[in-house]
Amino acid sequence: MSEKYKCPYCGVAFYEASDNTKERRISYNFDQKDFDGPYGYNSILSDIVAVYHYCPSCHEYSVQLASSKGLFSFNYPPYTGITLPDYIPEAIRKDYVEACSILDASPKASATLSRRCLQGMIRDFWGVTSGNLAGEIDLIKDKIPADQYRVLNGVRRLGNIGAHMEKDANLIVDIDPGEAQKLVKLLELLLKDWYIARHEREELYREILVIDEKKQDERHPG
Ligand SMILES: [Zn+2]
Repeated sequence: MSEKYKCPYCGVAFYEASDNTKERRISYNFDQKDFDGPYGYNSILSDIVAVYHYCPSCHEYSVQLASSKGLFSFNYPPYTGITLPDYIPEAIRKDYVEACSILDASPKASATLSRRCLQGMIRDFWGVTSGNLAGEIDLIKDKIPADQYRVLNGVRRLGNIGAHMEKDANLIVDIDPGEAQKLVKLLELLLKDWYIARHEREELYREILVIDEKKQDERHPG
């Protein structure tokens, strides 16, 4: 199974292959050759996984260094997120950018910002308020695709995000770096699916109506 990797330098996505992706494991108890032998990765715990990517487009190298048990994760260059258009409310853009910027240093703080960002998006885009995230996700159940609803419900359960939302705004839930990164990815997907798709749809409709008006004027001058 080959996965796509998006270059943090130029944004080009490419399929991971042996000539652009290298994975190395570092362990206190084992040598590199042990990982290549009959043990397999599953029997070896608490090792560090380093993944190098070489971008075929801009020829830059990027590195991810992570604990195989999800204890930490570092990216070089650090993840700075996608560029968000101005028509997305500033408070939402700020939470998103900050959630990205502290992904490596503090996955827990990042996840806290991500859930606040998600709640802000649900309230602003769908115009619902119920006092807590769980209730708000339920309020948009009939407005979003079934699979999206299932994922949001999953997020709510992730690290008890929903259960503690609003009861204690400053509560920091237990979460590992992989989960924090997935949350940021989910925000990006929803920002595209909701705000950006709506904007592009409205632009296209407007353009088509303008063309139609022009044609009408041409047919019925003055
Ligand atoms: Zn690149």
